Amino acid sequence: MANDPRKNLEEIRFFRDLGFREVLLPSAATAAQPAPAPRPIAPPPAARPAAPRPPGASAPRDAVPTDPASRPVVPVGFPSLPSLAEFAAGCPRCKLSASRTHLVFGQGNPKADLMFVGEAPGADEDAQGLAFVGRAGQLLTKIIEAIGLTREDVFIANVLKCRPPENRNPEPDEVAACLPYLREQIRLIAPRVIVTLGTFATQAILETELSIGRLRGRFHPLGPVRVMPTYHPAFLLRSPERKKDVWEDMKKVREALRE
Ligand code: SF4
Repeated sequence: MANDPRKNLEEIRFFRDLGFREVLLPSAATAAQPAPAPRPIAPPPAARPAAPRPPGASAPRDAVPTDPASRPVVPVGFPSLPSLAEFAAGCPRCKLSASRTHLVFGQGNPKADLMFVGEAPGADEDAQGLAFVGRAGQLLTKIIEAIGLTREDVFIANVLKCRPPENRNPEPDEVAACLPYLREQIRLIAPRVIVTLGTFATQAILETELSIGRLRGRFHPLGPVRVMPTYHPAFLLRSPERKKDVWEDMKKVREALRE
């Protein structure tokens, strides 16, 4: 890496914002590793059968269906994010509907070039009905601001719209039940870049079982969208030594948005 004073200054600001008091700038010894060949990744399903219930109609609030085939269908083709949010309100498609306080649809710029996707709401998010508002959310705000954007510039969402009890990991049936909402959000927002935060969001969106450590650091195609996996802010709170990796990922995101 060339020793660019402007980039070094940006990195110093980034780490300072993240709470570092001392910064070791990257040396020429930390040469970038060659990126593996891109894996062909299937785009989201293009067309699904039309639902009997039109967009905007309330989802039924009866008992949680145990048989996936009996779940209420999430249609495609909503005209706007508010109409999708209205449809999702009261969603009974998985067992998390029984324990949530609020469904957390996500928030931000409905036409954002950059979208962040995390795993699931935590306690703060469940209480407020907003995505990434706890300590991890504060760190995400700093990450966004480090590339010259604000939370209002981007859209922030999760794979799961309802909190798993005790913040346990999402279960496969919950991810399968909730993904149609995220796919529809991505279709409506049409971001140029998606940053997936952590293992579950990355695996769900890229339909892979590879670890975040194998996937982060380079873009993956999702139809016309470029997906950059990186570490979840909650993980960074526990492992702050990984913040430098996130900074490397976010610099690539910033460059991609300038193209
Ligand atoms: S997690 Fe998703 S699928 Fe499950 S109840 Fe909430 S909105 Fe519906």
